[in-house]
Amino acid sequence: MVIGSLNMDMVVRTQRAPEAGETLFGQDFALSPGGKGANQAVAAARLGAEVTMIGSVGRDGFGSELLEIMRGEGINTEYLTQSGNLGTGVASIVVDGEGENRIIVVPGANLELGVTDIQALETVIAGADMIVMQLETDLAMCEEAARIAGKHQIPLILNPAPARELSNEMLSHVTYLTPNETEAGILSGVEVSGMESAEQAARILLQKGVQNVIITLGSKGALIVNGDGSGHVHGFPVKAVDTVAAGDSFNGALAYQLTSGKPLAAAVRFANAVGALAVGRQGAIPSLPKLAEVERFIKEAEEEA
Ligand code: ADP
Repeated sequence: MVIGSLNMDMVVRTQRAPEAGETLFGQDFALSPGGKGANQAVAAARLGAEVTMIGSVGRDGFGSELLEIMRGEGINTEYLTQSGNLGTGVASIVVDGEGENRIIVVPGANLELGVTDIQALETVIAGADMIVMQLETDLAMCEEAARIAGKHQIPLILNPAPARELSNEMLSHVTYLTPNETEAGILSGVEVSGMESAEQAARILLQKGVQNVIITLGSKGALIVNGDGSGHVHGFPVKAVDTVAAGDSFNGALAYQLTSGKPLAAAVRFANAVGALAVGRQGAIPSLPKLAEVERFIKEAEEEA
């Protein structure tokens, strides 16, 4: 079960970003579904997981389109509401000639899913095999969802993105925390660059009550740290085309593997392969692979090794 955000990404390509008061002609424009919650839900569903998503979109064209896309991926949309007063969340993304992004996210309807809404879904949440959550929605709602997961002993993957300050109470309900290096740095107060500092940050997060910390390290894969010790799981070498949704694909894949009963190290290795495939392709949701592609990719990588 994924609890999280759905956005419509509006991407404009331009040689350079305009100055204040300036109008420019851009090269092209694309609308694409996104939002960390939606990306992670689709990542898990494409691999074969049975996914239910809890979230909120606006009563507008973008909202209807996002619901349609989620349904098309086989995701249960029964608990995606389209009833509020705010418009569907959007991300306005300007990509310049150097490939630099300038992004403004307007969360809109994502913020309408509140504490009382999530409390009303307690029995639904209690029936899940695993909860996957990010931080692009209302923080008080996320805290309540974590508390409910803890109360019913449902394993919780929290991808703490974008990074926000989290209480030890909330962290104590987290079974798997999956920050990237920047997020691990913000959450722990340790500047993370490389394996040693990543492990140091992870140890601090374990002390705050998290059961397993998995720090994603871009092309270098991921570091697992828990009460049993720590282990580096190497990434798969690929030519990075577009790193959008790397973390999201990793989280969706991790959830799929863990709910399929795979041990943690094997699940992280598989998630690294999914992340590598996603960075090898353009876009967020369009870049997410199906199970057969991942299995082929891992087999080829093993044959080359
Ligand atoms: P985020 O996208 O959240 O910043 P990362 O950059 O750490 O997170 O990427 C998440 C995962 O995606 C990594 O753990 C790795 O498995 C995979 N990945 C990311 N970048 C690359 C890359 N350049 N080559 C291979 N795999 C990558």
